[in-house]
Amino acid sequence: MAEQNQNPLTPFRNQPAPEAKNYPGLDEWRELSADQQPNWADHPDFGTVVSELESVPPLVFAGEVDQMRQRLADVAEGKAFFLTGGDCAETFLDATADKISARVRTLLQMAVVLTYGASMPVVKMGRMAGQFSKPRSSDSETRGDVTLPSFRGEMVNGFDFTEESRRHDPNRMLRGYHTSASTLNLIRAFTTGGFADLRLVHEWNKGFVSNPANARYESLAREIDRAIRFMDACGADFEAIKGTEFYAGHEALLLDYERALTRIDSRTHLPYGTSGHFLWVGERTRNLEDAHVNFLSKVHNPVGVKLGPTTDVDDVLRLIDTLDPERRPGRLTFITRMGASKIRESLPPIVEGVRDSGAKVVWVTDPMHGNTISVPSGYKTRRFNDVVDEVRGFFEVHEALGTVPGGIHVEMTGDDVAECLGGSDAVDETAFADHYETLCDPRLNHMQSLEVAFLVAEYLSK
Ligand code: PEP
Ligand code: MN
Repeated sequence: MAEQNQNPLTPFRNQPAPEAKNYPGLDEWRELSADQQPNWADHPDFGTVVSELESVPPLVFAGEVDQMRQRLADVAEGKAFFLTGGDCAETFLDATADKISARVRTLLQMAVVLTYGASMPVVKMGRMAGQFSKPRSSDSETRGDVTLPSFRGEMVNGFDFTEESRRHDPNRMLRGYHTSASTLNLIRAFTTGGFADLRLVHEWNKGFVSNPANARYESLAREIDRAIRFMDACGADFEAIKGTEFYAGHEALLLDYERALTRIDSRTHLPYGTSGHFLWVGERTRNLEDAHVNFLSKVHNPVGVKLGPTTDVDDVLRLIDTLDPERRPGRLTFITRMGASKIRESLPPIVEGVRDSGAKVVWVTDPMHGNTISVPSGYKTRRFNDVVDEVRGFFEVHEALGTVPGGIHVEMTGDDVAECLGGSDAVDETAFADHYETLCDPRLNHMQSLEVAFLVAEYLSK
């Protein structure tokens, strides 16, 4: 079947597409063990919510998803770089124009730093418009003598520590869908409606608190400006810099939601997850025999798998066989999150094993999740220096093995938060009391995000 569908436009054009509910294999995951799922199947609204999600418009179009896969194929070859950033957990209330704009502007700034530094196209993706559910290390949380279900992301339950709020409610999936739709709508407006025009490279920096990273950005923006004015004087055509491609991705944790938003593409009659362009499975749900990997093996999106420091290379090779049996360029991304102190030992055998198997995948570093610590005041944080050190380790390992360091995946925000320690205008613990806002993991603020981009640009331009 896969063979005859290689050309997306021809074979089935005039036939009606099959329905997702009859599509072979798409519901196989239901028979398998699925970790980290809500217990809401008995909720009276569950059935109607799922039916509604099965009939709403897709958030992304399969043609865009294919285009992203082609861009990632370039990344795997070392011809482009993959930048992903966004919240650990998005929230409904923070889906405001200001916050979305600050995040998109920060990502555009990071991308410009990378493109200019490395003379390489950057595939941009927001960890946005769908990042509403979280795996947790414990099912419950205890405060004093009260124990309640853990917060699992706003698509499952609320953050407030009350019985009512922590109850798993499937209606939240609908709010998640609509919030994703409005977020994505604004992202599309920004990135294609003039705001991402490279001639506005200075504008993206406006309104952020000034700091050394902004200043460095300003001087780079001046160079870009000069180059643009020169090109203008030469009569260049600016069509290509008027807008930019921008993709959305999230962890495909909530299988009820992901499956309900799976659509059969009318061009190819193949299933696509339409909740976002790129879907990944986390370190905790990537078991080969389990539901998440099975589900992702059936959809035709580019997919990612997070790999932690205890990853077994044989498992990785089996993940490739399961998720990318046809070895389609750009289909599979491994997002490694080893920890700064471990990456130089734990990453090489994995990359080597994959390289020697002949498979081509995209390698991305997530320098956040292996570097989470708790400070005595109780906050979960990350040291900026550890983040930077893991990025360095990632580049060193790939350089030594002759493989391609394809991208970076960070938890970040455009806001002036204090959640990660350090950076050139150093954040210290005293700032946490007033500027620690995340509901889940600590994020790089605007300055720290730009600094990471400058560091990566240095490596890419070597
Ligand atoms: C995350 O990306 O927020 C996350 C939970 O990551 P991981 O699966 O790598 O722990
Ligand atoms: Mn996280």
